[in-house]
Amino acid sequence: MGDTRETRLLIIGSGPAGYTAGVYAARAMLNPVLVQGIEPGGQLTTTTEVENWPGDTEVQGPDLMVRMEAHASAMGCEIIADYITRLDLTERPFKAFGDGGTTYLADAVILATGARAKWLGLPSEDKFKGFGVSACATCDGFFYRGQEIVVIGGGNTAVEEALFLTNFASKVTLIHRRDTLRAEKILQDRLAKNPKIETLWFHELDEVLGQDAPPQVEGVRVRDVRTGETKDIPCKGVFVAIGHAPANELVKDVLETHMGGYVVTKPDSTETSIPGVFAAGDLTDHKYRQAVTSAGMGCMAALEAERFLAAEEGQTGLAAQ
Ligand code: FAD
Ligand code: NAP
Repeated sequence: MGDTRETRLLIIGSGPAGYTAGVYAARAMLNPVLVQGIEPGGQLTTTTEVENWPGDTEVQGPDLMVRMEAHASAMGCEIIADYITRLDLTERPFKAFGDGGTTYLADAVILATGARAKWLGLPSEDKFKGFGVSACATCDGFFYRGQEIVVIGGGNTAVEEALFLTNFASKVTLIHRRDTLRAEKILQDRLAKNPKIETLWFHELDEVLGQDAPPQVEGVRVRDVRTGETKDIPCKGVFVAIGHAPANELVKDVLETHMGGYVVTKPDSTETSIPGVFAAGDLTDHKYRQAVTSAGMGCMAALEAERFLAAEEGQTGLAAQ
């Protein structure tokens, strides 16, 4: 039998939304408990330079997240290395079941589980995942020193990954299905100026090519979306950077979602359809998906949770015990 932890406020997730909620909730004397999940620090730990976090002209993503964790901890937020496998929101106190066997009982919950990389869904992509196919240039770029690499996608992530990978690769081919990038103009300029990067417009990935034993990528087969013609491009690494989907597994059957799975919150609020359950960050945000907006929503969620608990104090749940 695992142990039981009681808290007035449980924060699930350790990205900018979760840690900011932790700072505010701790300063509101709520003694919050924050469960980090399998990616402590969240998505920013998978990137290098962050240039749009106010106050830092340039900061390394992992460093920023270590600082956020230290900040939340210093304010009094208890940070726990665990992963929530199931959530019972049918009655208060809410129950969250940790992978390590702990059951968390909480009067209020802030969901800040963020988003995860999307995959194309090709059998060959799956077959070579970890053997040349990756969704994280920061994690795996180093393995491709002096090699040719392709990057799939046309958003900020794809362009940043392509630029970063030129630190290692002899050549990077960015493959995009249209002839217009979603990436910010400043990134597009850097891309155009980088002599190691070639962009292949109007193409999609059909198949990752490689040998079976040991598994190793040798190239990709791409298709021209206008003509249907295919061609092969030799490469040793394939970085899929086609966006992120909200990590809504814990709540997708109990909370309303929209726009591909993002949790719906009330206008100008982080309140969900269940009183006492708040959602912040990329889990709810199909529009901006930035560190600073996630942090802002984490702040809102903590303030709203504090008001909710204050209004309920002495009436229901753990606060009454
Ligand atoms: P995330 O950062 O996604 O964190 C989610 C957290 O939830 C993780 O800690 C995870 O472990 C936890 N979690 C998930 N499921 C569970 C569970 N079941 N139990 C417990 N914990 C769980 N934005 C910018 O503003 N500037 C940038 O330069 C920038 N660069 C980026 C580069 C890359 C490569 C990527 C992928 C994104 C970038 N972004 C950038 C976007 C930014 O990282 C996100 O908007 C932001 O991290 C979202 O914060 P979040 O707190 O909502 O969630
Ligand atoms: P994104 O903006 O959603 O872009 C995804 C890209 O992948 C698009 O170009 C899309 O093509 C392409 N794509 C999607 N599905 C595809 C498929 N099945 N086959 C081929 N291509 C496909 O995702 P993102 O780049 O990961 O960015 C996510 C969020 O994080 C954004 O809000 C972004 O601003 C933020 N972010 C910010 C920074 C920064 O501020 N420096 C860095 C990274 C990420 P189409 O264009 O044709 O739809």
